Amino acid sequence: MSLLLVVGVSIALGAGPEPGVMTEVCPFDDTHVSRPAFTVGEQTGLRLDLRAVGRFLHPDPLARCPRCQYVPGLRIPDGELARVRALLSSKEYQEEARRPSNHALRALIMAALKPDPGEVAFEWLRASWELEGTAGWKHATERALAEFIRLTSATMSPDDESALERRRTAQLMQVELLRRLARFPEARAALDKWADQPEMQRGAYVTLLATERSLIEKKQDAPQPFPSMPPLDPRSDDPALIAATQLKGFAAFDADFIIERADFGAFNMLPDSLHLALLARKPRALDSIWWWNFTKDGVPQFDWTQLLAAHARAEQLVGRNKWLAEWKAAGPSRRVELQLAGLESNTEMDFAFFVQPAWEHAGFTKPPVVELLLREKDSNPCANVFLDAGGGGIVTMVFECTPNHWVTAKSFSYHPKDNPPTYLRVSADGRWEMREMGAKR
Ligand SMILES: [Zn+2]
Repeated sequence: MSLLLVVGVSIALGAGPEPGVMTEVCPFDDTHVSRPAFTVGEQTGLRLDLRAVGRFLHPDPLARCPRCQYVPGLRIPDGELARVRALLSSKEYQEEARRPSNHALRALIMAALKPDPGEVAFEWLRASWELEGTAGWKHATERALAEFIRLTSATMSPDDESALERRRTAQLMQVELLRRLARFPEARAALDKWADQPEMQRGAYVTLLATERSLIEKKQDAPQPFPSMPPLDPRSDDPALIAATQLKGFAAFDADFIIERADFGAFNMLPDSLHLALLARKPRALDSIWWWNFTKDGVPQFDWTQLLAAHARAEQLVGRNKWLAEWKAAGPSRRVELQLAGLESNTEMDFAFFVQPAWEHAGFTKPPVVELLLREKDSNPCANVFLDAGGGGIVTMVFECTPNHWVTAKSFSYHPKDNPPTYLRVSADGRWEMREMGAKR
């Protein structure tokens, strides 16, 4: 049986500002629950509390089952259904259900499912956005704060860089939420406590902490915009960053992109590289890049001129696949990210085994020319896309994306040994089809 409880999805595409409707089925009493799927909009900014600003329904709209108050849309493993059923009749859940926030209910469901650290905190944060300007705001914000404080005191391996980064985010959110709750002395104490860490004295953290400090001194508790990204610090002593800025063509690159991260090493099973996470300074079709600039004896083999040319070629193809822009416009902080190993946009080491059978089954005869990851803010990459030079391509993985566009409506992961192997084929004009291999074409 499928773990995915989202069964019926109908989304109106290309219908102007009218939001599509998504119907989900309550797993406890089979009630059909409908909600707006998405509105196509544009993100114009971000606030210090990470809420996106723009023409969106944000946070994503949820709906609850009118019979049991369950909020559909999460993947609940079969073995966990009983636990969630018990939660629905608990006093805590029923009390929360008297308030209007569906995200708050989802936070309680998530907590029962024991998710990755941080997910519950972010769900309470969404509830606080949902309840802004109402009496319930303070309650949701305090719940989010408590979860972020819990996350800052969790033990984490010093080698798990993404966990450590999550913890730094939680530390900053602790400061921000204390400020929003007008608990200024506590906010200042938390700021002083976290500002000492060496990582907090670099890059964007410096600007963020200075912004928070100044707001706290002014006893300002209103929502505030996220400070704009600081330029690269030329005095940085980070060897990877220094190597990156010394590659040929840096000035041209620097005019349009920033370096978010630079590291030497072997990542994702690819050869030794200067690995760079790059982000466009302004919104554009192909707005971010993960680049493995292979090294030989520690020296990067490619330069920025070559990187910009590879990006320009790929962006042209991304632009022809308008469905990618639609997916991006259906939610805040979304990125379409080019995957570049050397100068080739294919980072799958065992392509012949893991991708090629689906690619050929989809009817493509030449190898893909562009590999993309679709990312949502504060989450792992949620979809993997390969594009053909002639237009169209395949999606080999969709995992825990916001299911508000047809690309991300159904979670799956192509594997050649699955029964049956499943992938999504898409044409450049956005016609799409889930395909099962072994089935008749
Ligand atoms: Zn129900």
